Amino acid sequence: MLMVKDCTTVWNNCLQVIKDNIGEQSYKTWFEPIVPLSLANNVLTIQVPSQFFYEWLEEHYVGLLKKVVFQELGSEGRLEYSIIVDQGNDHSKPQTVNIPTKKVPAAVANSYRPEQSFLKNPFESKAIDRHFFNSQLNQSYTFENYIEGDCNRLARSAGYAVANKPGTTSFNPLMVYGGVGLGKTHLVQAIGNHIKGNNPDKFVLYVSSEKFVNQFIESLKTNSVQDFANFYLLVDILIIDDVQFLSGKEKTQEMFFHIFNHLHQSGKQIVMTSDCPPRDLKGLEERLLSRFKWGLTADLQSPDFETRMAIIQKKMQSDGIHIPDNVIEYLAYSVDTNVRELEGVLISLIAQSSLNRKEIDLELAKAALKHIIEDVETEVNLDFIQKTVAEYFQVSLDSLKAKTRKKEIVTARQVAMYFAKEYTSHSLKSIGYHFGGRDHSTVIHSVQTVSDLIDTDKKFKASIQELQKKFKVKAV
Ligand code: ADP
Ligand code: MG
Repeated sequence: MLMVKDCTTVWNNCLQVIKDNIGEQSYKTWFEPIVPLSLANNVLTIQVPSQFFYEWLEEHYVGLLKKVVFQELGSEGRLEYSIIVDQGNDHSKPQTVNIPTKKVPAAVANSYRPEQSFLKNPFESKAIDRHFFNSQLNQSYTFENYIEGDCNRLARSAGYAVANKPGTTSFNPLMVYGGVGLGKTHLVQAIGNHIKGNNPDKFVLYVSSEKFVNQFIESLKTNSVQDFANFYLLVDILIIDDVQFLSGKEKTQEMFFHIFNHLHQSGKQIVMTSDCPPRDLKGLEERLLSRFKWGLTADLQSPDFETRMAIIQKKMQSDGIHIPDNVIEYLAYSVDTNVRELEGVLISLIAQSSLNRKEIDLELAKAALKHIIEDVETEVNLDFIQKTVAEYFQVSLDSLKAKTRKKEIVTARQVAMYFAKEYTSHSLKSIGYHFGGRDHSTVIHSVQTVSDLIDTDKKFKASIQELQKKFKVKAV
């Protein structure tokens, strides 16, 4: 009697052999998701979840696959992949394409060696926590202590939506961008902690792009790229911080692209941060950037006065410290760049209060701030100001010191003088000297012109604020 083999039986037999030949984790990652579809004319068709999956199987397991298919179907047996290229939705079915496996000589198929290595956790370090699914999250970053304001409303509420329904909102990926110290890391970690709190068995992973790059390089060195990929493909919620760091790192980007696609297609949530909007990310592949735009991009702005007040109050409250309202107002008013800096001032204030055994009052606050402004003076020197301003206005450094009266150079020169006056302890005379031997009245005039323009010209004011950030950030 002729036995009619069905595809499920054949595939299950194949799996038995495969299972014995590779590590458990690889088996779970690469073979469990496969669905046998059909068996006709000695062609076994299996469905794989993505193009990446197909490529991976072909690259790493083609020999083994060939071998098991020969065993089951004889030397005429062939394997074909059906690749899901589009997940589909309620209205449309998933789209697939079929591809036959590459031709592999039987000799190669027979020479397959069982896999030696087991899955390696790239975060694993002997000294630190060895728990495999450690999320690498800092639990002190929560939504509860993330103050809401106009500056972060969209990003925060999108983050909250994602935290409650990871992978199922249209905010996938969620990309949060903004300048340094504005709360990107806090927000995305809060998302991770929230998900972890609601679903302890979900594998949430937070990783900085820098660490991702280093792990990837390490895996290249130790021949364990496959383990690296396997590990990341297990993640349910991937939070990757500061993706601008991937810039120019092509191989890492390629790997990230594959991981991204695979996770996204399997309905896993991806959350990213960047220090600028995706369109300004230089040195990132176009195909990666276009993926970033699939979901939602939300920005964080500098907090306004009220939000800064609320942030200070919250921090003080959680530290169990009381400070008078007029001091909070003074701090919120004086430190207007970013939240990290605001925290720095608070810490310094608390330290000075306890060191000197003094109550926190306006006088002490002013002293604490003065200390920080002195830091600014020692950190930001004239050269740095001239260089930064020249770069910003795209004029040469020399032209700032030259005699030329071209309009754009005059503006850059005046702005540089203004900052020199503001952020250094140079006298007017000394400033003039460093700008090509001009006299102090020229410096006074420049400072006045810039101050007037700040008051009257909104665009100009914005440029000054942008530059200001560069000088203040350096001082932190
Ligand atoms: P970024 O990653 O954008 O550089 P961080 O997330 O590290 O900034 O934030 C810097 C500090 O400011 C952190 O200690 C964070 O807790 C705090 N912070 C930022 N935004 C807020 C906010 N809206 N409410 C409370 N704290 C905040
Ligand atoms: Mg950060």
